[in-house]
Amino acid sequence: MIELKKILLRHILVTIAVAISGLSFGQSNTSDIVSPASPVMVSNVGYRLLIDSKKGGIVSLRSTFGSERNLLVPNHIDLPLFKLELMDDHSKFRPISSSQAKKITIQKTGDEKAQTVTIEFKSLDNMPIDARVTIRCPANESLTYWSIELANDTTLWIANLQFPLVEVPFDNPADGGHNKILWSFGDGVLTGPIEPSMNLGGWSGTIHDKPEIWRYSNYPGQWTTTQLMAYYNDVGGLYMSCDDATGLPKMINPLMENDGVTLGLGHFPGTRGPGKSKLPYNVVIGTFQGDWHDAAEIYRNWAEKQPFCAEKLAKRKDCPKWISDSVVGIAFPMRGQADFDPPATANPEYSPATNALPFLDKLAKKLDCSLMPIVFNWEHGGPWVQPDAFPPMGGEASMQEFMAKAKEKGWHPYIYGDGLSWVTFQTNTNYDGMPYFQSHKGQAAVAYKWDGTFLEDIWTWRKNYVACVGTEQGRGMIVGMTKKMSEFGPDVIQQFDEGAGPRACYASDHGHPPVPGPWMAEAFKKLLNSVAAAARSKDSMVAMAVEGAPPECYLQQFQTWDARVGTCPLYSFLYHEYANGHEGFYMNRVSDEALRLSIGRAIVTGYMVNLTLREQGLINYDWDQLWTRAIPDQNGAIDWTKRCTHFRADIARDYLIFGRMLRPWRVSNITEHDLGWGKEPLVQSATWLAPDGRIGIVMANCSDLGESPRVELEGSGTKEIVLHLDGKMIKQSTQLPSVLDINMPPRSLCLIEVK
Ligand SMILES: [Zn+2]
Repeated sequence: MIELKKILLRHILVTIAVAISGLSFGQSNTSDIVSPASPVMVSNVGYRLLIDSKKGGIVSLRSTFGSERNLLVPNHIDLPLFKLELMDDHSKFRPISSSQAKKITIQKTGDEKAQTVTIEFKSLDNMPIDARVTIRCPANESLTYWSIELANDTTLWIANLQFPLVEVPFDNPADGGHNKILWSFGDGVLTGPIEPSMNLGGWSGTIHDKPEIWRYSNYPGQWTTTQLMAYYNDVGGLYMSCDDATGLPKMINPLMENDGVTLGLGHFPGTRGPGKSKLPYNVVIGTFQGDWHDAAEIYRNWAEKQPFCAEKLAKRKDCPKWISDSVVGIAFPMRGQADFDPPATANPEYSPATNALPFLDKLAKKLDCSLMPIVFNWEHGGPWVQPDAFPPMGGEASMQEFMAKAKEKGWHPYIYGDGLSWVTFQTNTNYDGMPYFQSHKGQAAVAYKWDGTFLEDIWTWRKNYVACVGTEQGRGMIVGMTKKMSEFGPDVIQQFDEGAGPRACYASDHGHPPVPGPWMAEAFKKLLNSVAAAARSKDSMVAMAVEGAPPECYLQQFQTWDARVGTCPLYSFLYHEYANGHEGFYMNRVSDEALRLSIGRAIVTGYMVNLTLREQGLINYDWDQLWTRAIPDQNGAIDWTKRCTHFRADIARDYLIFGRMLRPWRVSNITEHDLGWGKEPLVQSATWLAPDGRIGIVMANCSDLGESPRVELEGSGTKEIVLHLDGKMIKQSTQLPSVLDINMPPRSLCLIEVK
């Protein structure tokens, strides 16, 4: 929450009852209510919100910090305030919206501390369905809190609910004010300018608004990690989130429209009529000034008070000590080059896995640190084939021997499962899993779409059904897979590929409601507990990992993760002090410079480094780069990884392992290159707060040339500044604020501590 220090309420705070009768919720309304022509307005120093009195929709939301700007599309009033889909017992959907209410009344009440706008919608689409939307507007915050209650006197299910509809415009090239949108796919995506050709997707490109999108949740799971979205430019920004700490399923994603971008927020009450349902959390909408860090600070202020932030890494007893000692992850494919490339023939260097040990030994010596060997493409039937995965490539005994020997060397072997997937085809190996699926009664484990077919992921190289976490059989398949992996004896089990979270199921005979809903969160928690117990059946300190950062609601359930990063470290900013992951794969490592840059980015944003091997124990650019590419400069990659990892584990430890990321102090005068992810500074940097209050600016010059970054030290008074530059240390007293120009040699690391 933002405290507004100078509250200049532009509106006199008197209770205004625009409509004062007929507001008893859930009853038929026969009283005569006169809707005023003028919109209802709530405003304070940070925003001005207009709600249309006739339609009950949002007319406009203006950011009013200093200079004003309208944040929404000009014709926003044409959008309903909410939409929902009802579903009958034959899985037929019926869309309705707030615009179809027979009667709409609105009132504003409150005092100098807070105002509340209540909007009643009666008889939606001529059905006995009413809705009440409440918008609580504390006077001293730039945030407003939106809730909705539905009184559904039909016998239909509420399949999904879009609330509230908020659409931001495309940028106007004439006014030059480029905007950005932030959301939480993977570690966070920051994208802009806002235009029809922009990418608003996850892996598969821009997502357009269509009914099917709203029928599936993507949070938690599906790589969506937090409930924050933001839209902003230099003049002002729009903040949007939910304040749910319990991981109820939602659809949270920006969606492309014809005239702008909807900041999509979908909810799944999972109820049928007759009865009432109320969202058990608020949608939080407000304004802010600044950039994504400011939006993230608002969100962090809420998040750090939630149970999922109960323990910081330093205090977590479930996190093995080795994770906070920093290791280097080394992934090696037992067959194939990546996981998508046919034919997936065995690699004799890594199959059986014990064959990888000499290569790993050599690397561990050169890197002078402990390794986290990541075994992939190990499954019997082909990469990611689950649950028909056993025996592993090379046999059970050699896999156990590999794990045991790796641990004897002080390493921490890591193995992947395949999340909720029941794999039925793997074209790389010509695996046909249908006989196994049928003979193991897979039908009883799988989620259904509304049309009565199995929920299925179809890739060019693999097909899988998706387990319903609401079924004993679905959970059993995943737990069984985990238990068998645990018998190999790894230190890390990453069962949750494709993120940790449930997926929707519309089956009517699974014992759960036939629509997505809170049952998914309960069932997934049950699954998570069972998977953790199975993973730790032999060793109580096995770490649970996940693909992509853990969704915040499961932050205390995962000890590490295989991150999916971009260039916006939102997740590190929000949650780094609670747990540590490794930077993961798919990092645009297309050349030696891009490889070094990704390692520098990992280190400054608090991640452990990971590398992938190609033939003969050679470092590959990345998991997703085939071996037809040139072989990277081995000595260069090893030397940079070694120095970055030592830096992380040693002098920068209190910042990069246990610290909290701060809004960055300005670092300028740096060369930028576009290596495929847009222009990126070759000196990667971040500002951190150590648990004891010291501030550290970390910088990694990933370039082949010297760089002279200029660092603006913030604060006031005389402070001791300690500069660590590639093993050299300089101490000096400095009057803050101050500016430092640092001469960084090529491929060098620097920490500036302010004590
Ligand atoms: Zn189901």
